[in-house]
Amino acid sequence: VIELNEIRKTYFMGHNSLEVLKGITLSIQRNEYVALMGPSGSGKSTLMNILGCLDTPTAGQYILNGKDVSKMPDDDLAEVRNTEIGFVFQQFNLLPRLTAAENVALPLIYAGISKKDRTERAMVALQKVGLADRSHHKPNEMSGGQIQRVAIARALVNNPSLLLADEPTGNLDTKTSIEVMEIFGQIQAAGNTVVLVTHEEDIAEYAKRIVRLRDGNIESDNLKAIEIMAK
Ligand code: ATP
Ligand code: MG
Repeated sequence: VIELNEIRKTYFMGHNSLEVLKGITLSIQRNEYVALMGPSGSGKSTLMNILGCLDTPTAGQYILNGKDVSKMPDDDLAEVRNTEIGFVFQQFNLLPRLTAAENVALPLIYAGISKKDRTERAMVALQKVGLADRSHHKPNEMSGGQIQRVAIARALVNNPSLLLADEPTGNLDTKTSIEVMEIFGQIQAAGNTVVLVTHEEDIAEYAKRIVRLRDGNIESDNLKAIEIMAK
């Protein structure tokens, strides 16, 4: 699904520049569940934004589902983003006045899908995260974990092949974080590729593979021993 080849990213600020990614080469296959870890400032969010086609690399090649997206014009990139990628953020970014189902259906409005189909697909996505019975609740009527699951359902509603999440459990307690990690595990088991960022080792353990960044480089990448032994 994902092939990164010598990806570099430099931020330019006036006369200053900062190279944040220093040649990242990484491939992620369909149906992997990957946790991205590393110290604050190591470039995790920068890499996630590139993976999510929210930003483009300064140099290097990014092939997503067979297409080179590293130098795509913005319009084409937006199309890839809307059809192939779901993104979940640390701040849930739900609209407070809309119900869970309406929040989940939002991306489908931009895709020009009819109201009836939007509602149906929103319900399917809510079922995937175990929240079919909360479809009429507004964000302030739900727990933090439920809100994050709504955000995950929204990211899934377009049936993206790739689900990205930047510190999705950053605002959740441990028990709720584990619930959310288990939901990602189910999504992966259903055939999606999941890549998420976390600071917590205990949480990263729920992923099948841990990639560690340090200072803009990959420091380590262990498919867990048990997986390797199974091969
Ligand atoms: P954290 O764990 O704190 O979220 P991170 O690994 O996600 O950190 P990034 O957000 O990728 O780190 O940032 C890496 C470096 O790039 C930091 O030094 C940051 O200040 C800088 N940086 C990030 N975004 C920009 C930007 N838009 N313009 C300039 N510098 C940036
Ligand atoms: Mg970050």
